[in-house]
Amino acid sequence: MAEAKTFQFQFTEFWEAQTGLTFGIKGLLHQETSEFQKIQVLETDAFGRLLLLDGLVMLTDRDEFVYHEMITHPSLCLMEEPERVLVIGGGDGGTVREALRYASVREVDLVEIDGRVIDVCREFFPVVASALDDSRLTIHVADGAEFVRNAPADHYDLVTVDSTDPVGFAEALFGEDFYRECHRLLKPSGILAAQTESPFDRSFRESISDAHRMLGRIFPQVHMYLAHIPTYPTGTWSFTMGSKQWNPVTDFDAQRANRQLAPFLGYLQYYNTDIHAASFALPTFVKRLFVGV
Ligand code: SAM
Repeated sequence: MAEAKTFQFQFTEFWEAQTGLTFGIKGLLHQETSEFQKIQVLETDAFGRLLLLDGLVMLTDRDEFVYHEMITHPSLCLMEEPERVLVIGGGDGGTVREALRYASVREVDLVEIDGRVIDVCREFFPVVASALDDSRLTIHVADGAEFVRNAPADHYDLVTVDSTDPVGFAEALFGEDFYRECHRLLKPSGILAAQTESPFDRSFRESISDAHRMLGRIFPQVHMYLAHIPTYPTGTWSFTMGSKQWNPVTDFDAQRANRQLAPFLGYLQYYNTDIHAASFALPTFVKRLFVGV
């Protein structure tokens, strides 16, 4: 007698050739095509819910904390009393959630080009989107490249570029003009923190070197740091920090940072002052990306 077959759906995000990461899928919870991209929410068998934009992994319930903690706290923990944060992209709300943990932060601007991402994440990722109704937050459904051209100078403590990969409508968020505008918006002690893809990913190595070179022409301090994100291509992810004032390693006061983190340290699952120092220690193959930059 034939055995009943149990269907096991799978989704694979191919990183290079036929190599990638495969998720076991329990169901498709949402699918639509917005004005900008395809938006899907899948229920996985091991990582909770999964957000895909144009078929690329954006976040999962299980490991989103790594990215969102690491694009914010290494910068905010360098500053005594950060007040204003600009989040470009980040319509899921994770970066906003982390910035608003600081009592000193009294103004966050979120600039997300696709309002449907915000709506879908409110519905399907309530933990990630948990701070989107905070009274300190202003949501702008707009192009980040356009927004920074019109925003006031000397205004923000931190600008984060929490965007999709540097293609299509996100490409403008990786150019020198954009970075110069971000520099203009930042206070003298301000920091730009951008996600800068994986140094293992051969297709992005040039863009990583380019970003470092461009930022080096604009900011006196440019530092890459790494984090381990299991569901991102290769699992090793980079961020690049451009600072007008701070060296994120030599200027980091762990004792002061721990006092700043104390009110919400229990909520954090990745960032701590040891990780801060370690994340800026780069493997040799990554350092070689910057030789001559
Ligand atoms: N924060 C998530 C993570 O853990 O990496 C994923 C990144 S977030 C979903 C990326 C967002 O950048 C997308 O919602 C996309 O619509 C937005 N985006 C891309 N280009 C943009 C632009 N030029 N201006 C504003 N938002 C943009």
